Amino acid sequence: MASPLHGWSSPTAAAACSPTSRKAAHWLTAPAPSLLPPPPPDLCAALVEEATTRGIPIIRGKRLVNIDDTGNHVRAHFTDGTTAEGDVLVGADGIRSVVRTLIDPTAPRPRYVGFLNTAGYARGLNLGIEPGVNHLVFGKRCFFGYVGHPNGDVWWFANPPRREEPDPAELAAVPADVWRAQLRELFRDDDVPALAAIDNTEQITTGWVTYDMPSVPAWHRGRTVLVGDAAHAVSPSAGQGASLAIEDAVVLGRALRDQSDPAAAFGTFEAARRPRVEQIVTQGRRNGSGKTAGPIGRVLRDATMPLAMKAMFRGDRDPFRWIWDHRTDWDETATT
Ligand SMILES: Cc1cc2nc3c(=O)[nH]c(=O)nc-3n(C[C@H](O)[C@H](O)[C@H](O)COP(=O)(O)OP(=O)(O)OC[C@H]3O[C@@H](n4cnc5c(N)ncnc54)[C@H](O)[C@@H]3O)c2cc1C
Repeated sequence: MASPLHGWSSPTAAAACSPTSRKAAHWLTAPAPSLLPPPPPDLCAALVEEATTRGIPIIRGKRLVNIDDTGNHVRAHFTDGTTAEGDVLVGADGIRSVVRTLIDPTAPRPRYVGFLNTAGYARGLNLGIEPGVNHLVFGKRCFFGYVGHPNGDVWWFANPPRREEPDPAELAAVPADVWRAQLRELFRDDDVPALAAIDNTEQITTGWVTYDMPSVPAWHRGRTVLVGDAAHAVSPSAGQGASLAIEDAVVLGRALRDQSDPAAAFGTFEAARRPRVEQIVTQGRRNGSGKTAGPIGRVLRDATMPLAMKAMFRGDRDPFRWIWDHRTDWDETATT
């Protein structure tokens, strides 16, 4: 990929894929509900450009409802009655994956992580902070994250804790001014720029419920395989989900390049990926646990965290290097 990638906080880099020798059933999906304006489009633009250069068609607005595995091919059925056929089908359809339940109707449902997400762009709020540096703060009642844009805007998010899993429709129905007032209340005693960010944000997203997917027993069946959140959604507290999805694509591409039998290639892919992604799901859960601490847990957390962080990152130590520094060698041959 020629241009640098911007837009995600995760340091894991994306890698370019070479074409596999087989034809895949590919389509682009119905757009996800727009919670925020999308991040800078460098990555999407680079991928679309590369696909176009290679003559790969991109078809938008299709919604998959069923799969037919004929043994030699796999056929995708869409809500509009159309079909598409290929050698393999890659289910990259996110945490509510239909492909996952078509592979295994008894697959577990996503797990609620105990807090909500909300976010906004505060315009014209010059905090004098270094652009591009993520600030993550455990407030008294709510976790708050913010990063400065070079133009002075502040991109922020908050994680209001909720013990019980709320109904997404009820959350979506909370009027904007009520939601804003609730957020202001959560940060009223904190010495962070949360109130300024809230007050300078025209449109705050209504809260949405946050999940992860601890362990999906079946990642593939026949000529169909899962990647990304469909196979292993990570709590946003890990900041790793998109990176893992990209890693999946590279490792799966390599396996399909080197193994002619899809089942063997999918087995190689799963063996390479499952231990790493499940460990990161666990880490994401752990990262998020401090966000839902009760009054006593909060006191303990605030008393111990500064010392613990100092000890963990002393010198050039980084206990999370195994997450950031992961490399996949595209030229290596994939074997079972
Ligand atoms: C608040 C928040 C913060 C995050 N922060 C980070 C971060 O800093 N770094 C990071 O790396 N990751 C982060 N993530 C995680 C990241 O967004 C996801 O892990 C990533 O988007 C997963 O990619 P995916 O392609 O597997 O699924 P998705 O991005 O969910 O894409 C799935 C697509 O499939 C489509 N689809 C669904 N069903 C069908 C169907 N039946 N037919 C056709 N199409 C369908 C959907 O419309 C969607 O377009 C964050 C997530 C959240 C919620």
